[in-house]
Amino acid sequence: MNWGQYVKEHGLLEWPYPVKYGEETEVEADVVILGGGIAGCWAAISAARKGLRVVLVEKGATLKSGSGGSGCDHWLNTPNPGSPITAAELVQWELEMTGGYTNALTRYIAARESYETLLELEEMGGVIRDINDDFKGAPFRDEATKFLFAYDYQSKIHFRVRGSSFKVSLFKECKRLGVRIMDRIMATGLLTENGKTGGRVIGATGLHCRTGEFLVFRAKAVVNGLSRHQRNWCFSTEIRGNANFRPTQIVGDGHAMSWRAGAEFTMMEKSLPTSFASPHAFQPYSHGNALNSWVPCSLVDADGKEIPWVDRDGRVLRTVSERCMPAPGQKFLGERTPVYEHKRPEPIPDLEERIRKGEFRLPLYADLAGMPEHERKAIWGHMVGEEGKTRVPVYIYYTEAGFDPSKDLLQSYLFMGSDPMRGNVRPQDRTGGEIGDAGGLVTDWNLMTNLEGYFAAGDALFAANYHYHAAATGRYAGRKAAEYAEKMDGSQLSRAQVEEEKDWVYKPLENREEIEWKELNAAACRAMQNYCGEYKTDELLGLALISIKELQEYDADRVLVDNPHKLMRTLEVHNILTCNEMIIQAAMARKADSPQLGFKRLDHTEEDPSDWQKWIVLQNLDGRIQSRDMPLDFWEPLAENYEKHR
Ligand SMILES: Cc1cc2nc3c(=O)[nH]c(=O)nc-3n(C[C@H](O)[C@H](O)[C@H](O)COP(=O)(O)OP(=O)(O)OC[C@H]3O[C@@H](n4cnc5c(N)ncnc54)[C@H](O)[C@@H]3O)c2cc1C
Repeated sequence: MNWGQYVKEHGLLEWPYPVKYGEETEVEADVVILGGGIAGCWAAISAARKGLRVVLVEKGATLKSGSGGSGCDHWLNTPNPGSPITAAELVQWELEMTGGYTNALTRYIAARESYETLLELEEMGGVIRDINDDFKGAPFRDEATKFLFAYDYQSKIHFRVRGSSFKVSLFKECKRLGVRIMDRIMATGLLTENGKTGGRVIGATGLHCRTGEFLVFRAKAVVNGLSRHQRNWCFSTEIRGNANFRPTQIVGDGHAMSWRAGAEFTMMEKSLPTSFASPHAFQPYSHGNALNSWVPCSLVDADGKEIPWVDRDGRVLRTVSERCMPAPGQKFLGERTPVYEHKRPEPIPDLEERIRKGEFRLPLYADLAGMPEHERKAIWGHMVGEEGKTRVPVYIYYTEAGFDPSKDLLQSYLFMGSDPMRGNVRPQDRTGGEIGDAGGLVTDWNLMTNLEGYFAAGDALFAANYHYHAAATGRYAGRKAAEYAEKMDGSQLSRAQVEEEKDWVYKPLENREEIEWKELNAAACRAMQNYCGEYKTDELLGLALISIKELQEYDADRVLVDNPHKLMRTLEVHNILTCNEMIIQAAMARKADSPQLGFKRLDHTEEDPSDWQKWIVLQNLDGRIQSRDMPLDFWEPLAENYEKHR
């Protein structure tokens, strides 16, 4: 039944929950974790293991919320007893890939602690091995441990896992340890000592997304597991419902509230034209391709002619398993990198040209049927099935519709004008936090931000990415936050600050009710496309700032807010506008091109000059933007620093 039919039969629905705008509940804990995703759950478990009172605040339902809630097929970059590769070597390929623009501090912590994190996950019920022997004898299975590996069958550092079991296991472990899980609550602000910007964080505020009730959390330490910004250049749920790569409710609330409180950020100027935010793209991993979950899939053209795969030296590979083996002389393969050292095999890089010359005929297809059975089953079933967002809309729906990978080809839309993964899109259709490394919070080796008592983990950290990283840094930050909380006394909240936060949360209830929150989001995207798109100048960025300010000061008050859910959605767009401001300020501060950051200046055209190869760290002190430089390798020496702080 569609919405129109429903309304005809039943009339309009009444809001089903009691509305409690303005009512206030205070919750006290030793450690408050904001965000019940992968990092948040791990942080809660870590802190609770130390016997502290832990409260977990989640906007959705912790059981399945967040980017890792629906699944994870790759547990990457994990040194383990069956592999000769070290944590330092793993961080090295990421540094090579990003030209130094990665957060080696958190990547190193993650690489050092990833394997023990994975084993703990197994104890909680996570499925990390081929326990049913589905892949016995496969070249990517280690027979002794039953671990399955992806991308590099020799070096065994990227695990194939059954990630749809992970979030449920973490949820149960939180419950077992007595973590108080508070679902359907949007964290809205941070509370600081004496209400001072830049001061020690002693709590947070929240809005119940169903009742509209206001919550005040008091804590000795707070951990941010709220992920990052999204929906800044593109957003439409009308064209494709599942339009964002990361879940729609991840918008950068955590970034915005931390910015308001005076926390330091870097890398916010990074953005790339990719289709991961475009509603015109396909649902990720839903068509035939040879990327991520689909590695090392065979592709054929319209005549059934196979597209060859080559290694980094252009050597044509004859077997499917060779596609996941290092080339002669190559130590190991990175998950993805264009850099020669750790470059993986791939379908011929000049495929487009050869299609143009008539050697291959479009459309292309994934030929799972032509692959060895264990490789076919690994892609269709294990990977597409366990990867986030693929289990139901791709694996289950296609199977129910009759798709049989042992017989059928699955069409690929590569080179057909609608490349769903990494092809060209309009340069202004950019992604910020949707995919890859993104701007975020700066921390020290305890994963504490510049605000005392305020820790960060997972994708909330700058240049962070991946499930293993969120798990390991969450586990580490929870431990550090607990150690900190054990030493601290509770602090008196500033009533004036609580009232200010409350005013901010309920102000949209006074709106003029002229537009919907989605329209405000669309206008914000248009401003970013127009003035903070592919080419930047100081003048354009100035216009971007003016446009965002106008939306904040005039149009934000026009949004219809007639229930607590819409209040939450409206506050999200307010936070998106704040994140836009952060992006624009960061772009204004970088006065040089930087290909690694997808950053092009028309008024400072020197490409990546050495004096601009640095992090620009920004802080908002009550509206005054302060900037400092941080060397790219601020984390040196890695091993020594880690040992000192672990
Ligand atoms: C489709 C998809 C597939 C992926 N596949 C893989 C993979 O195979 N391997 C891999 O390594 N990585 C993968 N990733 C990336 C990986 O899932 C993320 O890097 C990881 O989940 C980040 O963890 P996190 O805890 O930082 O954020 P999340 O797990 O996204 O959790 C953030 C949580 O914060 C909550 N939240 C947001 N705002 C608020 C608020 N204001 N108040 C309260 N709660 C809030 C959200 O609801 C969410 O639960 C994938 C991501 C996606 C989207």
